[in-house]
Amino acid sequence: MTDLERLHREAIARPAEDLPRLLYADAVEERDRPGDAELAAFVRVQCKYARLGNYERACPFVGQGPQRWEVGNCSCQGRECVRRERELWPIVRDRFLDKGWGPVVCESAFARGQATTTAPLAIVRRGFIAEVRAPLATLVGDRGEEYETPDGEASWRILPAVLPAIAKSHPLEWAEAVGKRPQHQVIVAENQFWWDWPPPGGSADFAPHYLPPMLFEYLNADEWYPTEHAALAALSRALIAWARAQPLSSSPAQGCEVAVG
Ligand SMILES: [Zn+2]
Repeated sequence: MTDLERLHREAIARPAEDLPRLLYADAVEERDRPGDAELAAFVRVQCKYARLGNYERACPFVGQGPQRWEVGNCSCQGRECVRRERELWPIVRDRFLDKGWGPVVCESAFARGQATTTAPLAIVRRGFIAEVRAPLATLVGDRGEEYETPDGEASWRILPAVLPAIAKSHPLEWAEAVGKRPQHQVIVAENQFWWDWPPPGGSADFAPHYLPPMLFEYLNADEWYPTEHAALAALSRALIAWARAQPLSSSPAQGCEVAVG
């Protein structure tokens, strides 16, 4: 394992800390391939932005409209961070996901309403992908549509799962399957939200609260949650745990350029 790979793993293993990310940025810059200096600068400026207080993060001179930061006269760090982040973003954007994937946005742009919110979506925060939102079939893969082979046999186009490569290359904090919502019932004045197995022979697509059986290895089928958010958070943890347990061979290498073994 090279130093760069070791630092990359460290950044994923310690998602709450900036230091491993900043050390990784230093190593990327030292490698000095085209775009490496910009990626390193991007990681640093996003970490810095995340550490600012709400006042500076909410500076009215950043992001209210196209080019707004260019006319603002504020000298605060929030404005400077976002200006620099946006300068770097077009250069580093393609380092995060294959072009074929949906929108990838940096957090400040998303927070300022500059990005589309249609799925699939990946949000980059503190220099790495922090959140992913996509249909379940995109995240965990699917059998896809049926077609006939030259021998007349029925076969299926396999949709590859994108989540394993992302979850192994990024300190992912949140994964959301668009369209999936827990079942809800009020039982003795108590809210209960839960996920369910599909019926025998049925598909997880049948109802919003049905999930594929493999996710129940990481999710307790009998458990209920007091809020919808708690149920979505449990699903997010299960999706990330499932993704990290998958072999990577089936997915193209994506993410911060570092092949993850
Ligand atoms: Zn300001």
